[in-house]
Amino acid sequence: MEIYKSNSIKISGTSGEAGDFSGYRGVCVYLETDECNVVDVGFELISEGRKLADKLGVELSAVVVGNNIKESAMEAFQYGLDKLYVADSPVFSYRLDDIFSRILAQVITGYKPEIFLAGATWFGRTLIPEVAAILKTGLTADCTELAIDDKKKILLQTKPTFGGNILATIVTPGARPQMATVRPHVMEKKKIGVSKINYEDRVENIKIEPSNFKTKYKLLGVDRKLNENININDYDVIVSGGRGVGGKENFSILKELASLLGGVVGASRAAVDSGWISYPHQVGQTGKTVNPKIYIACGISGAIQHVVGMQTSDIIIAINKHPGAPIFKVANYGIVGDLFEVVPMLINRISSGKPLI
Ligand code: FAD
Repeated sequence: MEIYKSNSIKISGTSGEAGDFSGYRGVCVYLETDECNVVDVGFELISEGRKLADKLGVELSAVVVGNNIKESAMEAFQYGLDKLYVADSPVFSYRLDDIFSRILAQVITGYKPEIFLAGATWFGRTLIPEVAAILKTGLTADCTELAIDDKKKILLQTKPTFGGNILATIVTPGARPQMATVRPHVMEKKKIGVSKINYEDRVENIKIEPSNFKTKYKLLGVDRKLNENININDYDVIVSGGRGVGGKENFSILKELASLLGGVVGASRAAVDSGWISYPHQVGQTGKTVNPKIYIACGISGAIQHVVGMQTSDIIIAINKHPGAPIFKVANYGIVGDLFEVVPMLINRISSGKPLI
C-alpha cells in the first residue's frame, strides 16, 4: 500500500490469478421481495444488468425466492429480462438468510452466471455475503457504479470508501461469479418491454425439496409494526433528526418541515434507539440507505455508520450547533446553530414562498 501526497491510497500487486471461467456465462440478478412483491432495487438492477449483458453479448437472468411471488417477478421482463428462475415454496414465506442463501447458491451453481447482482438492502447485506462464502467467490458490497472492462470483459465494481472520500473500483479476477451488491435508487429502472407479451416460456421453476431447507431460526412471531407502511426511499426530501432533537415530541418540527417540502422524516440510530421514532425511519449502516434529492440532517453528529446511509444524497444540508461536527464534512450546505431556532426559520421561509436555499 502506498500513500501519495494527495493522501490518496494505491494498493498494488495482484489479487488473484484468472482461472478458466469459460463455463460461466451471463448476468444474473437476485429479485428481492418484501414477502409478496419484488422491491424496487430488483427492477433497477434488471435495467443495469441489461446494459452489462448487452455489452458482453450474453443472457440476462434473474432469480426470485419466496412464496407466491412469481406474479410480481414477471414484471421484470418489462425491464429487459431474458429468463426468470423461480424458487417458490411455503418454506420461503419469510426472508430467512440461512435458507435463502442455500437456494441462491444452488441456482448459481446450476446455471453458472459470470456476474451476480443483488440490492444492498438490509436483507441483501446479510444474505449475499453468505452466498459468496458458500460459493467461495468475492463480493463487492454497496456499489454505486458498474461497468464492463472493454478489453478484459470483466465487471468493474465501483464503491465509495474511506467515508466517501475516494471511489474504489474493484475487480474479481480469481473467482466466479463476480458478485456485487448495489445501493437502492442509484441505478435507474427503465421499462423497455410491453406487459401484454406472454413470457411464460422464459420461466423456469426450481424444484424445491422442503426438507433441504430447514432454517436454524425459530420464528416466534412477526411484528408488522416494524414493517410500518413507510418507505423513506420513496421521497425526494428527507428531514432527519438525531440525538440533538432531544425527545419524541420535538420531532414535530421536523415533520412540519418535511411535509412542507413534500418529504418524510428520517432519523439516526441514536434517535431510534431512544424510542423517539420507529426503526423504518432509521438511516445508516443498520438502517436504510437513502438517495433523496435533499437530505437535511438536524442534530446529527455524522458518525460513519450514519453517513454511509445518506452520503450519496444529491444535496446535503446539515444543521448542528457544534462547528466541528463531522456531518459538515459531507454537507453541501452547513448551518452552525441550534436546530430549534434554525428549523422554525426554514419553516417560516418556505411558508412565505421563499426558496429553501
Ligand atoms: P450524537 O452522535 O450524539 O450527535 C448529536 C449531535 O447533535 C451532536 O453533533 C450535537 O452537536 C448536535 N446537537 C445537539 N443539540 C443540538 C441542537 N439543539 N441543535 C443542533 N445540533 C444539536 N447510527 C445511525 O445513525 N444509523 C445506523 O444505521 C447506525 N448503525 C450502526 C451500526 C453499528 C454496528 C454501530 C456500532 C453504530 C451504528 N450507529 C448508527 C450509531 C452511530 O455510531 C452513532 O452513535 C449515531 O449515528 C449517533 O447519532 P446522532 O448523530 O444522532 O447522535
